[in-house]
Amino acid sequence: MASHIVGYPRMGPKRELKFALESFWDGKSSAEDLKKVAADLRASIWKQMADAGIKYIPSNTFSYYDQVLDATATLGAVPPRYGWTGGEIGFDTYFSMARGNAAVPAMEMTKWFDTNYHFIVPELGPEVKFTYASHKAVEEYKEAKALGVDTVPVLVGPVSYLLLSKPAKGVEKTFSLLSLLPKVLAIYKEVIADLKAAGATWIQFDEPTLVLDLEAHKLQAFTDAYAELAPALSGLNVLVETYFADIPAETYKTLTSLNGVTAYGFDLVRGTQTIDLIKSGFPSGKYLFAGVVDGRNIWANDLAGSLSTLQALEAIVGKDKLVVSTSCSLLHTAVDLVNETKLDDEIKSWLAFAAQKVVEVNALAHALAGNKNEAFFAANAAAQASRKTSPRVTNEAVQKAAAALKGSDHRRATNVSARLDAQQKKLNLPILPTTTIGSFPQTPELRRVRREFKAGKISEEEYVTSIKEEIRKVVELQEELDIDVLVHGEPERNDMVEYFGEQLSGFAFTVNGWVQSYGSRCVKPPIIYGDVSRPKPMTVFWSSAAQSMTKRPMKGMLTGPVTILNWSFVRNDQPRSETTYQIALAIKDEVEDLEKAGINVIQIDEAALREGLPLRKSEQAHYLDWAVHSFRITNVGVQDTTQIHTHMCYSNFNDIIHSIIDMDADVITIENSRSDEKLLSVFREGVKYGAGIGPGVYDIHSPRIPPTDEIADRINKMLAVLEKNILWVNPDCGLKTRKYTEVKPALTNMVSAAKLIRNEL
Ligand code: GLN
Ligand code: ZN
Repeated sequence: MASHIVGYPRMGPKRELKFALESFWDGKSSAEDLKKVAADLRASIWKQMADAGIKYIPSNTFSYYDQVLDATATLGAVPPRYGWTGGEIGFDTYFSMARGNAAVPAMEMTKWFDTNYHFIVPELGPEVKFTYASHKAVEEYKEAKALGVDTVPVLVGPVSYLLLSKPAKGVEKTFSLLSLLPKVLAIYKEVIADLKAAGATWIQFDEPTLVLDLEAHKLQAFTDAYAELAPALSGLNVLVETYFADIPAETYKTLTSLNGVTAYGFDLVRGTQTIDLIKSGFPSGKYLFAGVVDGRNIWANDLAGSLSTLQALEAIVGKDKLVVSTSCSLLHTAVDLVNETKLDDEIKSWLAFAAQKVVEVNALAHALAGNKNEAFFAANAAAQASRKTSPRVTNEAVQKAAAALKGSDHRRATNVSARLDAQQKKLNLPILPTTTIGSFPQTPELRRVRREFKAGKISEEEYVTSIKEEIRKVVELQEELDIDVLVHGEPERNDMVEYFGEQLSGFAFTVNGWVQSYGSRCVKPPIIYGDVSRPKPMTVFWSSAAQSMTKRPMKGMLTGPVTILNWSFVRNDQPRSETTYQIALAIKDEVEDLEKAGINVIQIDEAALREGLPLRKSEQAHYLDWAVHSFRITNVGVQDTTQIHTHMCYSNFNDIIHSIIDMDADVITIENSRSDEKLLSVFREGVKYGAGIGPGVYDIHSPRIPPTDEIADRINKMLAVLEKNILWVNPDCGLKTRKYTEVKPALTNMVSAAKLIRNEL
């Protein structure tokens, strides 16, 4: 019985690749140093999988930055502005595309499906000349072979590559990306020939776009592409790998009829309906790669459950055609539990990171073949049972309170325009009020104070004094700048989710549970393992202290339940909605405590609400429904005079604008400056918006200081589509990654612009 891994994290167990990359980019180490770190990581990963007994071990899943960018390099599809003149693509061109250089900005980056990984979006126009310009796939194959490991080379599938691309500037509206298919396939044929010559017997094409709702002509592209590749592929076993959701029924038919393909990989963790499709018919003689071990989470597999799923599948596809696999690349989970020194043994026994998942896959394959490792299965069963019954997981009171929410609606009693009137009487703000999103620059000094307090090197008293000093500085600066609604600057927070997770029950934290977000950037999501409750107030102390320093309104600053959920590893033993409702109740208590403490404006950030949107259209309405409901629960109990703000990042709101309105916040601040026209076009097209709204007037992601007239121009554009009495003036997002030398002049100009226009109104 065979085992397979779709892909493996690249960063290394202690983020070795991150540090090697950043040191190389800073000019502190050579290209050779970087290559050495990368080669060592690859070797250890291959060896680890081989030692574990995995039969189909992937290669070319390593990347210096991103696998889609690697495909772009393979195809020589370098946008002209990078000045590449041909030959094998080296670090210079590669990293310029990824990160920009002094002369040219980077290529666009966007989220990889519904994960927190970001890929570099290929830019293709009619002039693009494809040439085989990176031999990375075959080099990695040979490198593994030289180490004694025969691998399955992995390529981004040609159709997904095109479907994930965007048309180059100037041809956005007119150009059909799929028209490039024949040219792209010509290069794929060269790569395939190379791999064959090097001795490969299998090849894996990742075609995750197959889980989306594809129009007929896109599905047809798959049929055409694989028919075209079939002769080149003959003699090879060909796996088309899909992941992240169910396969639509129509797509399943197309996929299982593709020419030249001998194996299909499915995500059976998220794709529970795919199992029914397989049961209703699977092409005879083909391989099924059954993704039963979750690549998106950190939980130990329920081995007994998976084994029975696999046995049912075996009866359909035959013993020698079933391969045990992961649901997707392990890129989206943490690397190795071995390096977790702070988690207790009980919680650890419930978890499996990438290294442990490899072992699980192998154990399942052996069990299926009749070689069950009884001790391993028994330990797993015991851990599953302890997770089910542990008092740390279940909190009856929380379960009851959350259950009581279901089926009910939660809305503030008064409508938003009446609330805004009541709030205005209390707050007495000028027209076009100015505010910021929450955080102020996080200086090295500030990080040191937090670190030393955590490590017990400074006393609580010293810590509180330092943080209060920082808050005072931020408050004074905002008064000096004449901002209308102030923030305390979030100096006590390391991260907007971790800060709350650390104070809520039901959360655990890792030391090394990093997951790649983009390039060398990694995130370390908290683990939600149990029912969530709030033992005591979390922000009231700091917000009250900040309010006491000024007569102007001070915003209380909270992270919303949906964002806490979407930026954590979430328990898999109850629906996500239930976990979110529990978090919502905890945040509700905090909102009400802030109100009692005299905080009249409370911002509840839902930065990641859009991110959790399911890939399949059929599931989106349900998600938006409980997500928006959870948000409303947090503030349903406040008085009319308490102003609830929310903030959202990312620019693609147009398709969820009605859900945003349904959140019923009094004021929303929203990222806008990178997409400018897009958001405003919704309002131009007649969507009625009556609540307060602050589309960001400048981009905080760039060090550039926006001139006053440019900001004024933006505000005027907004005034053309939005009523003047609902418009707020604020930056795009929090300021924590900026420097004071940037923030001061930028905010000065922002306030000047607001005043300038106020005078004209
Ligand atoms: N209040 C947070 C901050 O200002 C919001 C950050 C975010 O939206 N990502 O940093
Ligand atoms: Zn933001």
